Amino acid sequence: MSSIAAKIREFKSRLPEGVELVAVSKFHPAELIKEAYDAGQRIFGESRVQELTAKVSQLPSDIKWHFIGHLQTNKVKHLIGLTSLIESADSEKIIRHINAESQKAGITTSILLQVHVAQEETKFGFFPDELLEYLATSPWQEMKNIRICGIMGMATNTDETQRIERDFKTLHDLFVKIKTEYTEELPAFKELSMGMSHDWPIATREGATLVRIGTSIFGEREYT
Ligand SMILES: *Cc1c(COP(=O)(O)O)cnc(C)c1O
Repeated sequence: MSSIAAKIREFKSRLPEGVELVAVSKFHPAELIKEAYDAGQRIFGESRVQELTAKVSQLPSDIKWHFIGHLQTNKVKHLIGLTSLIESADSEKIIRHINAESQKAGITTSILLQVHVAQEETKFGFFPDELLEYLATSPWQEMKNIRICGIMGMATNTDETQRIERDFKTLHDLFVKIKTEYTEELPAFKELSMGMSHDWPIATREGATLVRIGTSIFGEREYT
């Protein structure tokens, strides 16, 4: 068995029930994705549009591709129809674009709203208050070609367990609040995507439904 296949099996056995694995394959070649696929993995995460479109054409069609990177408006149209979930809808503007391009294509695109709770200033996403404000005031209910399925976030990149826990709790609280307040308007709102290679056990304790694991499955990335 390949080491990637072993890792996939290990994660499947370790993840609590109800938590799904997104195998983050960005910067790794299609052959390695195929090894994970052959071990039964079906959800893969990519962060660059060109890389995703190239991989889609090389790999089996029953793969569910999650887009997890920052998206530029001019790239949105290339993604539409290829993803099962865009996890990184991080601004009002990008949500409008996803809706408009989906409408042109005659489809509905599933998205997660990306939330910023980490200490780093470079991370994208709505601040929690900003997201609540957006949902309360913006005409998102008129956008018929997006399906809002939940939220995605990252914890602060630190070794301090308490800080990580606090970030995941903030995400979980926000998730529950939105789910409760918008039960009727957002029937598909059920995913809380949080946790990566170094912090996923904390994320699953705090209520994650999707974890996004790259390095622990595929090894270190070589950035090109
Ligand atoms: C790269 C990436 C991951 C995976 O990170 P690892 O530390 O390699 O597990 C998860 N989420 C997002 C948004 C990413 O960009």
